[in-house]
Amino acid sequence: MHEYSIAYDLYATSRRAAVENNAKRVKKVSVDVGKMAMVNPEQVTFLFDTIKEEDPLFKTTVLDCHEVAPRTKCHCGYSGEEIFVCPGCGALPELVKGREIVVTNVEIEVED
Ligand SMILES: [Zn+2]
Repeated sequence: MHEYSIAYDLYATSRRAAVENNAKRVKKVSVDVGKMAMVNPEQVTFLFDTIKEEDPLFKTTVLDCHEVAPRTKCHCGYSGEEIFVCPGCGALPELVKGREIVVTNVEIEVED
């Protein structure tokens, strides 16, 4: 259950941020999902909704997943989106971006 631990992690991270900022409600959690992370954003969203269900802070929270294109670089100086063969020298480029799953923003409502 790869997706489950990811969804749980997103919940725990955004909950911590919300509590630290005295939130009474979490409106939206934005997440960058690298295309090379090999996760299904729809499944992560579904699991996130299941995990947060019992949490009043998260009653109306929307999880917003953005897919992030991979980015690679090569020792020959190439950098771009080719992930298997470097167009410059034919070597296997190094993946520098696209495998991460990170919370980029937590939108909250605070007590006034
Ligand atoms: Zn190269």
